[in-house]
Amino acid sequence: MIVQIQEVRKILKDTDKIVVLTGAGISAESGIPTFRSNNGLWEKFNLEELATPQGFYKNPRKVWQWYNERRKSILSAFPNKAHYKLAELESKKNFFYIITQNIDGLHQKAGSKKVIEFHGNIFREKCTKCSYKTYNEKIYEELPPICPKCNNLLRPDIVWFGENIPEDVYVQSYEIVEKAEVLLYIGTSAVVYPAAHFIEQSIYRGKIVIEINLEKTQYSDLVNFSLTGRASEIIESITKI
Ligand code: NAD
Ligand code: ZN
Repeated sequence: MIVQIQEVRKILKDTDKIVVLTGAGISAESGIPTFRSNNGLWEKFNLEELATPQGFYKNPRKVWQWYNERRKSILSAFPNKAHYKLAELESKKNFFYIITQNIDGLHQKAGSKKVIEFHGNIFREKCTKCSYKTYNEKIYEELPPICPKCNNLLRPDIVWFGENIPEDVYVQSYEIVEKAEVLLYIGTSAVVYPAAHFIEQSIYRGKIVIEINLEKTQYSDLVNFSLTGRASEIIESITKI
């Protein structure tokens, strides 16, 4: 692995066009639970009830209660070294984007500027009927919240299971992945689509693909480098000058 780390460090230093795809694993060391690993959120909670449009319309109050709790835990979390090192790397490159599946906003808190929130953000809200959208870090006492414009239900502006990625977000991400020379994906189980398609797209196009994860994924054997370990430690070692 030491040789691999050295090679990756050189690639990141020499390449100017880099795209990073991040998942829940990069925020795990900030104390935010992941979805699928041991002790992950979906072992304790019911996905159909809490992260689908059907679950929301069945019981909006319950879904909002859960998002209230997740807002609280995300508000008390801080970016970790992995987030900071990526922000530092961005400042040295002309073409450097992060496409994140996370909804916690920690990349931006660490100083990253070019961040695409592929699945939305937990603090954004939108009306279920009209075009009203807002950013709000509030923990609601009265649930569910109602649109100030049309009095219909407000919902978190995140992409739930079974929903499409907004087209502009998808197209922009796709084009960035096409232009990049390197795809680095970090802390994602790589089983949620279409985000995982970016890994396939990059492998197919013959780009340099680098994986960082605590465990192997379905793509580990197909990529150029599969680095196993904690995101913060590996990112620190591959970005050392
Ligand atoms: P996931 O839970 O499916 O997978 C997380 C991966 O990270 C696992 O493979 C795990 O081995 C790895 N991991 C855990 N700790 C790590 C560490 N310290 N260093 C490196 N790797 C580590 O997460 P995913 O692939 O992002 O799943 C997709 C869905 O989960 C997304 O839709 C996302 O919106 C949602 N999600 C977001 C957050 C967040 O915003 N922080 C938290 C949980 C889930
Ligand atoms: Zn409305």
